[in-house]
Amino acid sequence: MNLKSEDLFRKALRLMPGGVNSPVRAFRAVGGEPLFVASGKGARITDVEGRSYLDYVLSWGPLILGHCHPQVMEALARVLETGTSFGASTPAEVELAEQIQAAFPSIERVRLVNSGTEATMAALRVARAATGREKILKFEGCYHGHSDSLLVKAGSGVATLGLPDSPGVPRALAELTITVPFNDSAALEEAFRVHDHQLAAVIVEPVAGNMGCVAPRAGFLARLRTLAAEQGTVLIFDEVLTGFRVAYGGAQQLYGIQPDLTTLGKIMGGGLPVGAYGGKAALMDLVAPAGPVYQAGTLSGNPLAVAAGLKTLELLRAPGFYERLDALAENLVAGLRAEADRASVALTINRVGSMFTPFFTAEAVTDYASAKKADTAAFGRFFRALRERGIYFPPSQFEAAFISSAHSEDDIAETIRAAGAAFTALACR
Ligand SMILES: *Cc1c(COP(=O)(O)O)cnc(C)c1O
Repeated sequence: MNLKSEDLFRKALRLMPGGVNSPVRAFRAVGGEPLFVASGKGARITDVEGRSYLDYVLSWGPLILGHCHPQVMEALARVLETGTSFGASTPAEVELAEQIQAAFPSIERVRLVNSGTEATMAALRVARAATGREKILKFEGCYHGHSDSLLVKAGSGVATLGLPDSPGVPRALAELTITVPFNDSAALEEAFRVHDHQLAAVIVEPVAGNMGCVAPRAGFLARLRTLAAEQGTVLIFDEVLTGFRVAYGGAQQLYGIQPDLTTLGKIMGGGLPVGAYGGKAALMDLVAPAGPVYQAGTLSGNPLAVAAGLKTLELLRAPGFYERLDALAENLVAGLRAEADRASVALTINRVGSMFTPFFTAEAVTDYASAKKADTAAFGRFFRALRERGIYFPPSQFEAAFISSAHSEDDIAETIRAAGAAFTALACR
């Protein structure tokens, strides 16, 4: 028997914490029944009731080619005939490592893992081992996965649910994590002064996506680069979201700043579970078995994930791919702005490439504090109004929306019309 969303969620609530396997899927911040998806194709997903939605979540970023891209599916089908996992090396892993290195010149050596969380956790371990220091610095509202050291003033679901720092993280570890506001070079300098030569690593989303989309201010990443270099602190760019998204070579290509270590995930797995960390050979050669820093994974370099990733990257290298995606995103954002103005809804839209966030505030959003000024109740109403019109946006004010190459001009026009109606409904309340 096919259960409907409502019944499925009731059943899931008995079986899984909050009824979900990742917090924001429960739609707590926006209200309404959580989505149960039956299938996806191109820019659209279909739920178990048969309703179709234009998808701006795209599995939270990975599906830059849309759902079920025929060539990615074909690559997966081929692998399925040869085996799903061996726990031994395969040729495709070497090829993917080569493609990652070609895309990111700062990555001299790379290790594949199974998630972004694993990647950032391992990168921190390398930084601590290399420097012999324990403190790390991160930015408020940035999310780097859910490992203990990084779950301090974190963005994403932590921000969405308005949680204080998570219980269960040992105080001794949390105390080693220093936080400063994103985009605040003065606070950054002060932190480097106070923790002089004690910071093992500074980790940053070079374009923040997990407090909603927030671009780095001019000079911010460069200042970070200089300060880290001066004090021998390992600079980690967490490009799990931005890698292959804001440009093929990520934010480091877009802004021309080279980190010491980079973490990747999402797009590089083409929608399958994956992650990677890499960087300077001197750092990465500390990782076992080349060096003493232990990190391993039963399914790391999984043939399915690697095949989907390789095919995805190949398609992203098509001439004009990013230019077209950026133009589509710009059209959508311009349309949303015009509709919001027409309905007199206070809206600030941040966009970098094909990631963007409409914040329900008149003020500029440059960090977590200004993001939090957004009217989350208005966002919730906007989300539900869009959903009624067959448009699926991220179910949180503090998550970025994405466009895929499967989105068409018509899809964008349809979305702008739906948003116009949603803004009007908001303004009439
Ligand atoms: C999604 C994300 C992660 C975590 O990746 P998972 O695969 O969900 O563990 C880490 N950092 C950033 C910037 C992310 O967007």
